[in-house]
Amino acid sequence: MPKRSDLEHKALQFIANTSDKGVLQSDLWRKLDASSREGSRISIKLENKGLIRRQRELFEGRWTYRLFPKRKPASINSIIDCPCLTCSESIRCGAYGAMSPNDCERLTEWLIHLTREEGEEQGDS
Ligand code: SF4
Repeated sequence: MPKRSDLEHKALQFIANTSDKGVLQSDLWRKLDASSREGSRISIKLENKGLIRRQRELFEGRWTYRLFPKRKPASINSIIDCPCLTCSESIRCGAYGAMSPNDCERLTEWLIHLTREEGEEQGDS
């Protein structure tokens, strides 16, 4: 039987890749060859760490949980419009360079815009 920390890591990776669909807790433990008791403990632990969201769901007449990732895996689309990718100053830009991401207005505006979009997707205001 795999160690609990390995299972926790594998579970988190699997859940992260389910994106908006999530996965039924029972299906996940079957895939990871874990007992439902072990699985419940791990999913509660992941939820307490703020890494997943558990949503109660009635499935085939029994209450279970669907597990959703709180963070989506990074994709190229998430940085496709980053100003650094097309910046004419990028060659001179660095932490200790003439230009720096630490005080770049274009980068700051882009990050603020991203944060707002993410908040809107999650229903924050
Ligand atoms: S941090 Fe600013 S100056 Fe540096 S590469 Fe990105 S957009 Fe250009």
